Amino acid sequence: MATTHNLGFPRIGAKRELKFAQEGYWKGQSSRDELQALGAQLRHRHWENQAGLDQVPVGDFSFYDQVLDMSFTLGNVPERVRGFEGDPLDNYFRVARGRSAHDSACSCGVQAGEMTKWFDTNYHYIVPEFSAATEFSLDASRLIDQLAQARALGIKAKPVVIGPVTYLWLGKAKDDSDKLALLPRLLPVYAALIEQLAAQGVEWIQIDEPALVTELDANWQQAFVAAYAALKTDKVKLLLATYFGQLQDNLALACNLPVQGLHIDAINARAEVEQAVALLSADKVLSLGVINGRNIWKTDLNAVLEWLEPIHRALHSRLWIAPTCSLLHVPVDLTSEQKLDQETKTWLAFALQKLDELKTLAQALNGGRESVQAALAANRTAIESRSQSPRVHNPSVKAALAKIDAALGRRDSAYPQRAAKQSALLKLPPYPTTTIGSFPQTAEIRQARSQFKSGELDEASYTTVMQREIARSVHEQEALGLDVLVHGEAERNDMVEYFGEQLDGYAFSQFGWVQSYGSRCVKPPILFGDISRPKAMTVEWIKYAQSQTAKPMKGMLTGPVTILNWSFVRDDQPRSVSCYQLALAIREEVLDLEKAGVRVIQIDEAALREGLPLRKSQWNDYLQWAVESFRITANGVQDETQIHTHMCYSEFNDIIASIADMDADVITIETSRSDMELLDAFDNFNYPNEIGPGVYDIHSPNIPDQEHIVQLMKKAAERIPAERLWVNPDCGLKTRAWEEVIPALKNMVAAAQTLRATA
Ligand code: GLN
Ligand code: ZN
Repeated sequence: MATTHNLGFPRIGAKRELKFAQEGYWKGQSSRDELQALGAQLRHRHWENQAGLDQVPVGDFSFYDQVLDMSFTLGNVPERVRGFEGDPLDNYFRVARGRSAHDSACSCGVQAGEMTKWFDTNYHYIVPEFSAATEFSLDASRLIDQLAQARALGIKAKPVVIGPVTYLWLGKAKDDSDKLALLPRLLPVYAALIEQLAAQGVEWIQIDEPALVTELDANWQQAFVAAYAALKTDKVKLLLATYFGQLQDNLALACNLPVQGLHIDAINARAEVEQAVALLSADKVLSLGVINGRNIWKTDLNAVLEWLEPIHRALHSRLWIAPTCSLLHVPVDLTSEQKLDQETKTWLAFALQKLDELKTLAQALNGGRESVQAALAANRTAIESRSQSPRVHNPSVKAALAKIDAALGRRDSAYPQRAAKQSALLKLPPYPTTTIGSFPQTAEIRQARSQFKSGELDEASYTTVMQREIARSVHEQEALGLDVLVHGEAERNDMVEYFGEQLDGYAFSQFGWVQSYGSRCVKPPILFGDISRPKAMTVEWIKYAQSQTAKPMKGMLTGPVTILNWSFVRDDQPRSVSCYQLALAIREEVLDLEKAGVRVIQIDEAALREGLPLRKSQWNDYLQWAVESFRITANGVQDETQIHTHMCYSEFNDIIASIADMDADVITIETSRSDMELLDAFDNFNYPNEIGPGVYDIHSPNIPDQEHIVQLMKKAAERIPAERLWVNPDCGLKTRAWEEVIPALKNMVAAAQTLRATA
């Protein structure tokens, strides 16, 4: 008999109940008990949702972040919040977000923990903080309480914890000490935790060690050996879980650790399964992740069975099956979707549907395919419908893709010749000023958008409201004396969704929310088919904005790599192919803008860096197609047309050559918070084109003063010739208020004038 289990369930709730409860609590609108009760209710519901599985995860629920939960379980709480006298839950929120519910009225907040991406997903965790002096102490109460709740409900509970090596791997030594040196202090706490869970009578504990899918040096590999030798126990069984990729060099290591079971991602690491079967000793369980926990597509169950049945015959009850990873990364329930068309809906599976797939597979393995004949037949029909649908396959898109050649991504002339022509045309002063695209999304804008969506406002009236906002932001920019203006993006809800909605090949869910961090969720659009652009998407808005001013107006687009990285994408073709299709569609928009007389066009690639694969050995391949996609999008224009790009970070050291290869005339990046330190990348690399290091930290309500901006720019000028520098904020201004933006930009423009005068 194959066993079914799940690694983790989305905790935010099908209707984002947790989000609203968290935010209500933070605002002081509800009590701690109410929040706790909602948590218990969600856990209960989610365990019910998973009923029928042989093992159900417990401890995957979190009021903010599972890594921060682990830090509290291990007693690794930052110094700055120790000695807090209030409620422990409030202290937890202080680390998570800098303040608790009760701090909101005063200025007694603390520095929030740093946040970073969980492996190659869009989930962000709170980074554990270490120093050479870090000590650990166990507080198992969260897990014990949740186990007690599960037990009372008769759930077959499998506690889930992050393993010790991955926990260290995820953290950061604030004093630059060697965090691995903390392992000997950490292991006794883990041993005690395992002991306490075992004492609760659980049979299995899932220990997540996804660090095993990354490139580990000998010290880190050795840490795994030492850790699991120390945690070896016969009181409870340990299932070591890996996911998101292949184990490669770490495969034999993982197979030989003294645990009772190993989970591997049998989609990303399918090629390693055979070897794992051979390497695992006969007393160990092999858990295979056969349902994709990272996408929203239905699994081809018949194909999985073809492959899985022989493995099942070899392993019998030693085979477990599960989703590849926690279902945290997918929305909860497809059946809530009322607006998706019926056909598309048959191609999709959200968390609940994925668990049904899992049960069908187990039934087919354990009881024979005939026992689930109807389900398998329905699945086959859906898979065939998707693979043959004319809505997915567009021959003219495929033909255009086949015609891509190197010339398509090349400008006519090299940067120096282009720069001369652009300068003759645009006549910009030294240290030209601009902004990144969006201006405040005011209450009027949001109201008009929601009224337009609900049909309360007709299209003409909606357009009038948006034009009024565009005109307003243009006039503000003229009054401020900015040099290259933007239209302000009033008409855009989201920089990816706005384009997805206008491209063929995209579908949108109503409730397809996925947690991004804390209470924040995103609803990635679903890229399901070949991408084409039925008509121009932005030209009318930009033309209107240009009609309001004699200054150059910058056209504003989202680039193909960012659209790709922030969407659920197809699993029936490589990501690169979807990216090239997006590139061709956005290229048409670039050319239409140019035809309409727009001479400065910005193509945002905010998410280019976050698409980098987990393993460095795969970076080149990604960067090659990502950069080529950008070049195809951008580089069909005449020399006189100035191409800008924008990125929301400046950690470029490791990819600066690829960034330069994009060949944008101007790149704007985020740098103000780091005091330009991050421009270090430019010490060893001679970036050839123009660059605008952000000088206004738009994530903070603070107004930068003129002198500070001048100083920042002077620092930049030490690394980059002044004639190639721009002056601009870190990112778009849509989350700020006009009252903040105006004085900040006034100071920015004044700083540019000072720089010109002293140049
Ligand atoms: N043009 C976008 C804006 O200004 C860029 C946003 C981003 O980089 N995330 O809002
Ligand atoms: Zn940005």
